[in-house]
Amino acid sequence: MIAAKNIDWMTQRTLKSNVRYVGIGLHTGHRVSMRVRPAGINTGIHFIRKDMPVAERLILARWDNVTDTQQCTVISNQYGVSVRSVEHLMAALYGCGIDNALVELDGPEVPAMDGSSAPFVALIDRAGAVTQSAPRRAIQLHKPITVCDGDKFALLMPDITPKLTVEIDFANGAVGFQRYSVELNDDTFKRELAKARTFGFAEQVGQLREMGLALGGSLQNAIVIEGERVINQEGLRFHDEFVRHKILDCIGDLALAGVPIIGHFFAHKPGHKLNNALVHQLHTDVDAWSYVTFGEIQQRPGWRRLAEVTLADAVQLAKAWLQKVA
Ligand SMILES: [Zn+2]
Repeated sequence: MIAAKNIDWMTQRTLKSNVRYVGIGLHTGHRVSMRVRPAGINTGIHFIRKDMPVAERLILARWDNVTDTQQCTVISNQYGVSVRSVEHLMAALYGCGIDNALVELDGPEVPAMDGSSAPFVALIDRAGAVTQSAPRRAIQLHKPITVCDGDKFALLMPDITPKLTVEIDFANGAVGFQRYSVELNDDTFKRELAKARTFGFAEQVGQLREMGLALGGSLQNAIVIEGERVINQEGLRFHDEFVRHKILDCIGDLALAGVPIIGHFFAHKPGHKLNNALVHQLHTDVDAWSYVTFGEIQQRPGWRRLAEVTLADAVQLAKAWLQKVA
């Protein structure tokens, strides 16, 4: 089985029932009521702003609808109606193998929950999932795609399963250098990634709030670092929770490709801007990949050759890029 121990990845899936949640947006501070509903095959994930006129309220969760990547990922439609902070919910839907869903909101931002994807996963698990009568498609890489931005870079390399390797490097000693590598499946997503919370630095809060960001941020929905110390009383959920959260963000941003990407994502100091640039590059370099069904991935001739691109190769490629941009 490709990609998952627990999920049937061969066919599309949606929710079995509706789920509701009311919470505060991390950046706007708005109290938002959210309802996630089942949707038909090939719908993808759509956001619906219930507080907007009917003709203007629909926003497709797609990479080319991303209009802002500062601190979070924002998607907008042609009427300028937007939804902020979609990435942790998108990661949860992807990680739980949900292809089709409608996300209704009565405000401008997805609730922050506890700053991670775990509460979304709990909601999705409570709703249950059903398989649908259409094959799940994926993007399969044939050659690497790369983007860089200063000393940050991201690569997508051919592989036969979805893998992510992420490095972060903060001068702050509470975070420092961390690298995490994971082969994505239902099990690893829920166990290793979903619970990792977003994080911020106390000294930046004033500046962010002047910019109209982090208005709903608190110790209930973020890890806060003051000086070189985590000030949340409960401490960290993982010793490397920071890099695990970065992977979660990458999954949410890559999910905006619309279908799973079968390949090895390797990123050094990624952020929402870099992730979105990579998906844009992917859609520019259309010879580098093709749409396949999950069944076809296993049958594709030459897949063993693709599988030989290992983590060691990824690190080598990454080092080459580092020298190039230094
Ligand atoms: Zn995040």
